[in-house]
Amino acid sequence: MTIGVLGGGQLGRMLALAGATLGERFLLLDPSAESPAGHVGELRVGAYDDEAALAELAARCSVVTYEFESVPVAAVRAIEARGVPVFPPPNALETAQDRFVEKSFFQALEIPTAPFAKVDSKDDLVRALDQLGLPAVLKTRRFGYDGKGQAVLHTKEDVDAAWAAVGGAPSIVETFVRFERELSILGVRGREGSAMSYALVENHHAGGILRVSYAPAPRIDAALQVKASAYVERIARELSYVGVIALELFEVRGELVANEMAPRVHNSGHWTIEGAETSQFENHVRAILGLPLGSTACIGASAMINVIGEMPERERLLRVEAAHLHAYGKDAAPGRKLGHVTVRGATHEALVDRIERLRSIVG
Ligand code: AMP
Repeated sequence: MTIGVLGGGQLGRMLALAGATLGERFLLLDPSAESPAGHVGELRVGAYDDEAALAELAARCSVVTYEFESVPVAAVRAIEARGVPVFPPPNALETAQDRFVEKSFFQALEIPTAPFAKVDSKDDLVRALDQLGLPAVLKTRRFGYDGKGQAVLHTKEDVDAAWAAVGGAPSIVETFVRFERELSILGVRGREGSAMSYALVENHHAGGILRVSYAPAPRIDAALQVKASAYVERIARELSYVGVIALELFEVRGELVANEMAPRVHNSGHWTIEGAETSQFENHVRAILGLPLGSTACIGASAMINVIGEMPERERLLRVEAAHLHAYGKDAAPGRKLGHVTVRGATHEALVDRIERLRSIVG
């Protein structure tokens, strides 16, 4: 039997590469014939609401997963209706697809978030700002990613522009968090309910896109790591989750504030391929198959640098000591994630020069 994946992007590609070493085959559904996962697994070109394509996935696969969180819940339900399990479960997808539902869920689990309010009209926004204060961030409830569908409000005069920026769509507004750092943590939960998590990761974004991750995040005290692990494992347990889950956090004066979760393998977990005992991709495959989970322990210190927009000459990247290139086989385009490079060493201090060199090459 085969593992089915909704989505054929780089995450699907890396899932298929990791699963292959466990002896698994992959059938990936994606609307684009150019999907990068098609180079390493069998690609079925079709829309996510194509009933014949979903039926084929259900007929040929023992289990189905997905690699992006805007996959239609109806597609997942259609596969389940044919008796094939889909992991992570659809309720996780539904929760992550709506920022209001997601933040309310965090709140119910006593996981701190920025104060937030639901906004369905410009009047709602004005009222919410009276309560929350400024600055604030307006975000569409659905289909926002990499900072899209968002607007920062500094004064009340920004209301019209912010409301226009989100296209008047159902939104939430939250207080602007003056964080010291952006962190994330990956959890993984197996079919029989055992849960584990990885080390906290420090993430640096530019233009709304992840650029660099450091793992484990430097200068994290043990109590903060324990707290982050408890949060992500609590979320996973509550959702009866199966697979890898990512939780994005802000660090604010030594405390953690949850921003959002992703019910899938995550860009801030790519370092685990070289930097952890078991990669996020392998652990996701293990989890959905009901296999024992692998150790999430770090191997030394790692840095992951995204290659965005343009792929530099491979030779230049590979000349950097202990650099590992993961090219996704995609055509270059501005802002597009084309690959990533991971370097690993005994400590972060030992990596400083190599990271500098890689960053100057990647640009
Ligand atoms: P998101 O789509 O929620 O992940 O937001 C994208 C990026 O916007 C985050 O990685 C942060 O850098 C920034 N951001 C989001 N929400 C807030 C907030 N409440 N306060 C400050 N910065 C934020």
